[in-house]
Amino acid sequence: MTYHPALSEAAKAFLKCEHQLLIDGNKVEPSSGKRTDIIDPGTGNVISTAAEANSADVDKAVAAARRAFEGPWRQIKPAERTRIMFRFAELIEEHADELAELESINSGKPLVFCRNGDVVGIAEMLRYMGGWTTKMGGDTHNISLPGEWHTYTLREPVGVVGQIIPWNFPLNMAMWKIAPALAAGCTIVMKPAVQTPLTALRIGELALEAGVPPGVLNLVTGRGDPVGEAIAAHPGIDKVAFTGSTEVGRRITQAATGNLKRVSLELGGKSPVIIFPDADLEAAAAAVSSSIFFHAGQVCAAGSRLYVHERAFDQVMEAVAKRAREIRVGHGLDQGTEMGPVISQQQLERVTRYIQSGQEEGATLFAGGNRIGDQGYFVQPTVLTDTKPGMAVHDEEIFGPVLCAMKFGDDDIEQLAASANASPYGLASSIWTRDLNVAHKMASRLQAGIVNINTHSSPDATLPYGGYKQSGWGRERGFDAIEMYTEVKAVAVKLS
Ligand code: NAD
Repeated sequence: MTYHPALSEAAKAFLKCEHQLLIDGNKVEPSSGKRTDIIDPGTGNVISTAAEANSADVDKAVAAARRAFEGPWRQIKPAERTRIMFRFAELIEEHADELAELESINSGKPLVFCRNGDVVGIAEMLRYMGGWTTKMGGDTHNISLPGEWHTYTLREPVGVVGQIIPWNFPLNMAMWKIAPALAAGCTIVMKPAVQTPLTALRIGELALEAGVPPGVLNLVTGRGDPVGEAIAAHPGIDKVAFTGSTEVGRRITQAATGNLKRVSLELGGKSPVIIFPDADLEAAAAAVSSSIFFHAGQVCAAGSRLYVHERAFDQVMEAVAKRAREIRVGHGLDQGTEMGPVISQQQLERVTRYIQSGQEEGATLFAGGNRIGDQGYFVQPTVLTDTKPGMAVHDEEIFGPVLCAMKFGDDDIEQLAASANASPYGLASSIWTRDLNVAHKMASRLQAGIVNINTHSSPDATLPYGGYKQSGWGRERGFDAIEMYTEVKAVAVKLS
């Protein structure tokens, strides 16, 4: 096999491994004996293989997670959990280059973003969540029942949690789930996306090295059916946390009803970007481009519906189209690449089909629109104008570098908010204006879990992240994430 010249010896050595499952701290062959090819989306070539688990492997992983939950992980004092999580963060930093290279070659995202964004971000997430272990106590309560009472609450771990993640941000999605679960004292059975298991497997090794006891973090690689389904339905799992499509989120919710396990969902989006004419239009246009073209639009919070005031429309659209034409599209590991490929042949076909259908339904192709080359899965940064509700490109999540742009006039804020809210999704949004009244009025009217003002992105571990409506249930990041992995117990003592 020939490897990309930017890959270090450490990354190459990891790619060459026959990856197995991680159960109870051991590398384990999958019961099926099957393996899946792992593809570099920048070339379409096989770069490694991973084990394909089945429901019997999920049973083993759940049993290991239960033993670890009732045994070592519960005995470890909160301050020691913090120390282990901080050590885990340090190990991630020590292996930052290798992790970034593996993330880039497997997901297609340019190396510089993997190195300076994802890897830095997951170490921060571990430290942020690790800090909560000693601070997540309960409260005492002044109750009004007759007699004398002592009442308080305890915050306890939910138990064994199943975590199912997508392929777009393999490292981030893994750590957004692992870190709060570890901090809360839960144990984990995680299924990475079938396309992108590599970095999760590598951080699984680093977790053990950091002192996370065997069985606390188990990794079962494989397909949605059977592995994801087995996790969602498993009677031994107390909570399932899922990030992925709304369609699969719905299936997971149904599968979880057997034991009424807790469910949290981070799902799709069709996030609006709203630009008022008084905004810093240059900054807004630059942010529009990065919000939709960053990681080839495979971002749940991508700014995929753009509303620009008619007085600013031409200026903003010219700047966005210019940027779309200038973006350097290439292999994630090539120096200077600003946008990589989409993840797979299937995703390439899906995105180009949407671009085609948009034009058939009356949208105007303003920039891009085609596949680039015939090796790897590259799509041009694409801008469609004259899009409207009822068109698939406007209504559905494309998950590719495709922007739908629309004009608004001197509509009142209510009408504009109604257009922005006319979507089953409600994940992110951004508002561009210098007028504080307009900004805060819009912020209160948008049905979205995240409202950004004069930016489209606010990636910080402390800020809750999640969606309204069909974009999900619950919030990751911030203390909200700890709440999702804990139960609150009320203890009432009647004093005699
Ligand atoms: P997907 O729903 O196809 O797959 C997500 C995960 O679920 C994968 O691990 C997959 O193997 C597994 N899965 C598939 N079928 C399953 C089943 N029947 N039961 C259990 N698990 C199953 O999503 P994807 O294509 O990997 O990722 C793209 C989607 O993820 C987009 O819709 C995007 O918006 C969403 N996403 C949301 C967020 C967020 O925070 N809201 C973040 C990233 C991605």
